[in-house]
Amino acid sequence: MSELLQMFRSRQHEMLDLLRAMVERESISRDKAKVDVLVDFMEARLNKLSADAVVRLPQDEVGDFLHATWNSSAPGKPYLFLAHIDTVHPVGSLTTMPIKIEDGRFFGPGSLDMKAGTVIVLEAIRALVERKQLPNRPIHLLMTTDEEIGSPHSEALIKELAVGCELVLVTEPATQEGTIKTWRKGGGKYELLIEGRASHAGIAPHEGINAIIEFAQQALEINRLNDLKYGTSVSITVVEGGSAGNVIPAQARAHIDIRVLTMEAMRNLHEALSNLHPKMPGAKVSCIRQHHRPPMERRPGLFEKAAAIGERHGVTIYEGGTGGGSDGNFTAAMGIPTLDGLGAHGDGAHALHEHVIIDSLPRQATLIAAILLEWGDSM
Ligand SMILES: [Zn+2]
Repeated sequence: MSELLQMFRSRQHEMLDLLRAMVERESISRDKAKVDVLVDFMEARLNKLSADAVVRLPQDEVGDFLHATWNSSAPGKPYLFLAHIDTVHPVGSLTTMPIKIEDGRFFGPGSLDMKAGTVIVLEAIRALVERKQLPNRPIHLLMTTDEEIGSPHSEALIKELAVGCELVLVTEPATQEGTIKTWRKGGGKYELLIEGRASHAGIAPHEGINAIIEFAQQALEINRLNDLKYGTSVSITVVEGGSAGNVIPAQARAHIDIRVLTMEAMRNLHEALSNLHPKMPGAKVSCIRQHHRPPMERRPGLFEKAAAIGERHGVTIYEGGTGGGSDGNFTAAMGIPTLDGLGAHGDGAHALHEHVIIDSLPRQATLIAAILLEWGDSM
């Protein structure tokens, strides 16, 4: 076993303690007060890691963000870690999915996605600080609280910090088998709004413009934009319309979820959805993008380099991708080398059986510490 792996194995207990403390502090994205309790806790932890600065960035609608920096005046291109401490699990989930350890697995809401990933980064940095082995370049860690709602408040900051970075490391979960993510689909949310004209369904149906019938025709056209073979999905996920049982509906509204593998597919879809034309005379149709994450396209050489480093330290990694997005999508789309899925192994993210494979904590800490030690300069 490599020396690093051995050292992190001896720290497994401490890592589990930190994970437990984080999971005990429930932190669904929209509950600022609850999330801030965890932010207070993380801020205190970060302050023990000899950072040059730990800056708390106050937020109005979500929990505060934390930005820690080491070696801020060192030469060389920075490394940036992206971690989020919000979860999708409502407050009170601890009663229906209590923390438990079983068969080498740690169960609990938000454990895998991605409180364990946060534990892993903190442990890797702690160890290198203690060993005086941090690479001679700036290292940034941004801990956000709005990733699970699409990062509306942190997106700009993430992009700002990523400019000029040598590497961005995202500790979202790996799969059970330890597959890191070299590609992720991009995605977007649109709101489709149809306006017709109301009229009495009994007295003057001919005077109305039925927004639901217009919607139905648009829905079929939108559905034809699906191209599942090439990874493009366009799904109408929520629909509402009409006002009363005897009124020709004046309005219909729908939500559309899109997922794509490439920037090109994203542009084409955006073009198509932005140019929907009414089918019925007098109807109005608009389709507005509310937010989106560009796809993380596979970048040749990145995985190979990380895998070779892992191998030297007794950690074998595999590569894969996913339809789900992360903050890594933003930085990859800027052309900044981004490694994602460096977090814990496990299963059940966002589900009742969410759990972390405990063994993977020291293993992934080893991988991250080794990458920090050996990545060097641009490929
Ligand atoms: Zn996540």
